[in-house]
Amino acid sequence: MNCPKCEAETLGEFSVHGVAVDRCSSCAGIWFDAHELSQLLAEEARYVTSLRRGHVKDEVEGKRGKCPRDGSELLRVYSSIDRSVILDACPDCRGIWLDGGEFEKLFAVRRS
Ligand SMILES: [Zn+2]
Ligand SMILES: [Zn+2]
Repeated sequence: MNCPKCEAETLGEFSVHGVAVDRCSSCAGIWFDAHELSQLLAEEARYVTSLRRGHVKDEVEGKRGKCPRDGSELLRVYSSIDRSVILDACPDCRGIWLDGGEFEKLFAVRRS
């Protein structure tokens, strides 16, 4: 799968507490298949430390991308958890792309 924001970059799969997610080593964005994001946001902090790294990069933040699974145009939607975070969501497979640092933002809000 290719990164929706960097295009040429290939995503690397890794496992977080039994859930396989895909991350771009270039922009630190992460792809979550349907339900994986809500599942991981509900986990204990110690299980998801590997997802909480990275910072939002201006050059990818406003960029539109295509779903790495099926090539559909990702929709820019405000997160219901924190409306300062704009997610890239696939209308077809319901997967969600978070830019670097966005998981941390959502996780912090969820905790408060
Ligand atoms: Zn990338
Ligand atoms: Zn998709």
